[in-house]
Amino acid sequence: MRTHHCNELRSDDDGQIVTLIGWVNSARDHGGVIFIDLRDREGLTQCVFRPEESAESAELSHSLRVEDVVSVTGKVEPRPEIDGKSTVNPDLPTGEIEVAATSLAIVNKAEVLPFQLEKELSNEDLRLSHRFLDLRRPRMTQNLRTRHLVTKAARDYLDANGYIEVETPILSKSTPEGARDFLVPSRMHPGSFYALPQAPQQYKQLLMVAGVERYFQIARCFRDEDLRADRQPEFTQVDIESSFTDPDQIIDLVEGCLAAMFRAGRGIEIPLPFERMTWHEAMNRFGSDKPERRFGMEIEDLSELFAESGFKVFSGAVKNGGVVKAINAKGFSGITTGQVDKLTEIAVNHGAKGLAYIQVRGVDPETWRSPITKFFSDEELTGLQEQLHIEEGDLILFAADKWEAACEILGRIRLECAAMQQLLEGKENVFDFLWVKEFPLLAYDDEEGRWTAVHHPFTRPIEADRQKLESGEYEGLRAQAYDVVLNGHELGGGSIRIHEADLQACMFKALGITEEESRAEFGHILDAFQFGAPPHGGIALGLDRIVMLIAGEHSIREVIAFPKNNKGADLMTSSPAQAAPNQLRDLRIKSTVREKKDE
Ligand code: ASP
Repeated sequence: MRTHHCNELRSDDDGQIVTLIGWVNSARDHGGVIFIDLRDREGLTQCVFRPEESAESAELSHSLRVEDVVSVTGKVEPRPEIDGKSTVNPDLPTGEIEVAATSLAIVNKAEVLPFQLEKELSNEDLRLSHRFLDLRRPRMTQNLRTRHLVTKAARDYLDANGYIEVETPILSKSTPEGARDFLVPSRMHPGSFYALPQAPQQYKQLLMVAGVERYFQIARCFRDEDLRADRQPEFTQVDIESSFTDPDQIIDLVEGCLAAMFRAGRGIEIPLPFERMTWHEAMNRFGSDKPERRFGMEIEDLSELFAESGFKVFSGAVKNGGVVKAINAKGFSGITTGQVDKLTEIAVNHGAKGLAYIQVRGVDPETWRSPITKFFSDEELTGLQEQLHIEEGDLILFAADKWEAACEILGRIRLECAAMQQLLEGKENVFDFLWVKEFPLLAYDDEEGRWTAVHHPFTRPIEADRQKLESGEYEGLRAQAYDVVLNGHELGGGSIRIHEADLQACMFKALGITEEESRAEFGHILDAFQFGAPPHGGIALGLDRIVMLIAGEHSIREVIAFPKNNKGADLMTSSPAQAAPNQLRDLRIKSTVREKKDE
């Protein structure tokens, strides 16, 4: 006889003899009759042990504890009425029936659990150290299944569009994506190290040179950086590369792919195409290259209004080539001192000297509470009122700085105000997709006194800026790069690549990489570009983040089977762990970390 899943039986199975196998989800003693909810990954079935059906099983059932693995055979029966009341559970798909047990086998006993599975647990480390139990919770089982469906949808979609999945090495060579590498010492080449891939960037470009034309990979990537809720040292990308393409083709492909992923994982149709916006506009209006647009509070430019202001902080910023910008947090004039302090701290952490604001108590500027309005002329007050549509109850927040800094500061403040005002409450089912295009190609690092790549060094400038890159004018170059954004999260990013050895050499030069260094680090790419490299471009989507958003979770750890905690440790297997002295000897590695006994 086949065993049934715990979500399978319905009232029309009445009278059937069935066998179920699974975990005891709960056990209740109702006056000597034991009820258990039996659970497997599909759901629950109630089993009842009555002495009149099988004295032996009923006796044994008294010993059942939660999470014991048991096999139950019995007859499917409709749930009875007791004292004229139905015992049907309408919340359960199997709620109309129960299995009257005639035989019970305890397959494996469970010890008392370190935590209860039906309760949400705030101690994440405890969850992670017993992840095999944590994953038994229906929410987590569902998340794993959602991830499977979403990944499969991406695979199927890309396959249907002519993309071939190719695996690339994990033991590989450093490829710059802006993070620190994880290194693996080589035993056969003492003193040399493999790097784990931060992304398969170079391999996928080399596959284009190899004539693969359309590549994808559900690729594991490794970056040694500090962790946050949506960062992990290893994570998964849907990595894509195509030859003979342009940004619009990649954008169309990815929109279709995301639509397939959301359909499979959440059962919704996302409207296509997504809106597109340049990086400049995104920064200017939302102060972020991944704008959250589910609330307004857009950034306004007041530079013209305050260019000649008697308030020197503002006019001085404009005279120095900077800007004066502001946001209107509608209805937030009642902000507390503690909240003002928090916003000021954010502004200061992003390089501002302080945070100027106005609490609009009434329509008349006389009633406004602000440390700065006393310096404004009547024209400035009126101009401000008009431009920011100021009404009673508003809170105005300013930044006066270089354009990008002012945008970034207000971008952060805007998000924090929205959090304080709970503006996103009830918007969990709004999915605002957006493309951000034409990122800067290079950024100047003031501390290091050099140009760095905003994405990675293989990104192509827009054709109008190509000559400038070749002639060494690096300011303001735009890249053929695009990011796809959902509700303030970057879902993925990519670019059209450089495919000519000479242009690539110009890029390395811009980044201050000498010819010798570029030969040593990237000789294979420069060589490959000499042998008929096709024009190509691609993108990588962050699978963990996408699944997190589809599943409605707040951390990618909820959608990764075995994630690291926020200190990069796997508490279940106790990794990272010390290596045995003989392993280190084989690798010719000597630790500089002193052992406790030496201290
Ligand atoms: N390799 C890039 C990244 O990991 C994506 C790309 O340019 O395709 O962000």
